[in-house]
Amino acid sequence: MRIGIVGAGQLARMLALAGYPLGHQFLVYDRSTGTPGGQVAPDIVGAFDDPGQLRRFASQVDVVTFDWENVPVASARILAEDVPVWPPPRALEVAQDRVAEKNLFRRLGIGTAPYAAVSTQTDLRRAARRIGLPAVLKTRRMGYDGKGQAWLRDAADLEPAWQQLGGEPLIYEGFVAFGREVSLVSARSRDGDIVHYPLAENHHAQGILSWTRAPYVNEPLRRAAERHMVRVLEALDYTGVLCIEFFVRGRELLANEMAPRVHNSGHWTIEGAVTSQFENHVRAVTGMPLGSTAARGPAVMVNFIGDMPDADALLARPGVHLHDYGKTPR
Ligand code: AMP
Repeated sequence: MRIGIVGAGQLARMLALAGYPLGHQFLVYDRSTGTPGGQVAPDIVGAFDDPGQLRRFASQVDVVTFDWENVPVASARILAEDVPVWPPPRALEVAQDRVAEKNLFRRLGIGTAPYAAVSTQTDLRRAARRIGLPAVLKTRRMGYDGKGQAWLRDAADLEPAWQQLGGEPLIYEGFVAFGREVSLVSARSRDGDIVHYPLAENHHAQGILSWTRAPYVNEPLRRAAERHMVRVLEALDYTGVLCIEFFVRGRELLANEMAPRVHNSGHWTIEGAVTSQFENHVRAVTGMPLGSTAARGPAVMVNFIGDMPDADALLARPGVHLHDYGKTPR
């Protein structure tokens, strides 16, 4: 099949690299050329909200998927008029808004940090009174890797946080004193079959995923996370790979956010699992059966940002694999 990917970052690149052995072809769509995805697949350049260009893209593929969850929902719906689009635009819509996402978790009986939508300074003061401090103030939309966030330790932090973020729709979240962070990556096929990878444990530095180890073995948490995942996948009538990130507080799982796509915390599955998250996403969106998610053994994924390590020194160690995204270090 011809698979179109909207967004041509490293995830598109890794999806294409996983899908070629299955005989698929790829076409990636992004705002510029020379992207990580555009280095391994033909690309179309266009704005994410250009209906004409999006339709030209759709006319050249059999199915569309995403490497970026912030593609405008209206664009996803335009594409869906011409070609199957997975995950469904509704999943993007929910994942693009931290409040909608948490409302969905709550409706499905999945615990979250206490939260409140904030659009005025009065809302902010009210949220601080009701939920308390410390807390995190985040933009509802377009936040990633700790961007668009302000940490509130005491009442004196409210005013500067408002100066920094006010004017955009915000979410106020009670600070969760978590013991660790874990994520569950799962895939649902077009027929509704669901497979789950083992839980992964994630460590963030400055809001960015720094390293992941998997499997993180904890049976009660695994069962709880899978139960939550199945509810979300079914509520959204989802096809493809979905990741949910959780805080672990004692024996409790609190959902922080979800990514309606392959996820950084699932990169270990490339060499660490029988079938990678990328291959399973490609299989799901093309209607193929899903592959085994079993771990081949313990794995660690380390994310290098800014400075690239010396490749030779790394690869001299047996069992180490390197995935260069083809980006210019900044
Ligand atoms: P996010 O962009 O929501 O994934 O946040 C990035 C990271 O900030 C998370 O992985 C946590 O380490 C931390 N964080 C976010 N929200 C909270 C919260 N409500 N309580 C404690 N830590 C948080």
